[in-house]
Amino acid sequence: MINFEYFHTLLPQSIGSKNGAVAPTITPSAAFAYENAEEAEAIFKGDVSKPLYARMGNPTNAKLESILCKIEDANSAIATSSGMGAISMVLTAFLKSGDEVLCIGGFFGGTYALVNETMARFGVASDFCDVDDFDKIEEKLKNGIAMVIFESVGNPNLKVPEIEKILTLCNKYNTLTMVDNTATPILLQPLKMGADIVVHSTTKNISGHSASLGGAALFRKVLKDDKLKDDKYKHLSEIVEKMGEKAMFAITKKRALRDFGMTASAYSSFITLLGCETLSIRMERISKNTQIVANELHKKLKNVLVRHPSIEEHEHYDRYKKIYPAGCGSLLTLDTGCSKSAFKLLNNTKLITQTANIGDNRTLALHMKSTIYRDFKESDLKFLGITDGLIRVSIGLENPVDIIDDFVQASE
Ligand SMILES: *Cc1c(COP(=O)(O)O)cnc(C)c1O
Repeated sequence: MINFEYFHTLLPQSIGSKNGAVAPTITPSAAFAYENAEEAEAIFKGDVSKPLYARMGNPTNAKLESILCKIEDANSAIATSSGMGAISMVLTAFLKSGDEVLCIGGFFGGTYALVNETMARFGVASDFCDVDDFDKIEEKLKNGIAMVIFESVGNPNLKVPEIEKILTLCNKYNTLTMVDNTATPILLQPLKMGADIVVHSTTKNISGHSASLGGAALFRKVLKDDKLKDDKYKHLSEIVEKMGEKAMFAITKKRALRDFGMTASAYSSFITLLGCETLSIRMERISKNTQIVANELHKKLKNVLVRHPSIEEHEHYDRYKKIYPAGCGSLLTLDTGCSKSAFKLLNNTKLITQTANIGDNRTLALHMKSTIYRDFKESDLKFLGITDGLIRVSIGLENPVDIIDDFVQASE
């Protein structure tokens, strides 16, 4: 069972201060003065842990990073300017031209485009496969691919990967794994299940109020006989030897954050911290709401296909019950069959906010094919499960009966 009660106490207690300012402080300075030349040298060398320059981090980001480490049971974390910032930071930190990434399952459009187009321009190849295509996964791992990435639950295809089975297989072949846990903070802790790196778009549930763009990457502890010492990762060996337990954090800071500058701003991190205080209580409510709304709409909406793994007909229903006993976050989808009926349904709603965001306090919805996926090829749309009438819904904190009633009246 998810220990929501543990987080309900931990989060407000560790974010607020009992001495001086209760709310987290914002340190917006771009530069930080050093006491003397010796201290400057020690900070740059890494012997003294004090702020160096805001591109490399600031005290407000550091506070957020420490809270995210508690949420994910991570060794270290880096807060970024957006979720895409976190994903591109990890890929560019660990991969080099000639490497290949395997992407398992459905993907958020931004990640798909990053891997498929942008990383390809820099010589990193990619391949995609279904969550259950274990023959292909193992074949790719045998061939020495450099990284495997997947989402905790597909956005928006709502496929549920067999997370532990995939991670165990990747660990057997000493292959790095990155799990995008954006949809399921608190509900899933991939590092505990054997993942190497977790990324979040904190823009979504973690901040929760549509008030702050942000992201984060979180890392496990690097071990003595770590997979990073595999021949595939020879280009990282110097930092791995030198930095020990925190090597993944150091690799990412030095090879991506420093050079590309996708750093979070102190102000954004402050807003995200406010979201963290209520994260677990919101996730508990939102996940429960989503299951109720999905199952009721499944019964009540005629001519609309409702998709959520808590609905018995979903292909991953049994797996979902095992991996996500308290639900898998805010997403469900409605397929009305064609874009005309999808537009009509959306425009008839009264309570829903039409926007490209997810994981908000209020219920959001968006037609997929005409917006986020408008530039995608037919074959890519097919792989990602984007049909003409597909609406992605992100359920909020409202009374579930009000959400259900609104969709039912909109569909009439
Ligand atoms: C939104 C989202 C992202 C990208 O995050 P931004 O903060 O918008 O850059 C990445 N992955 C998933 C699953 C998302 O939903």
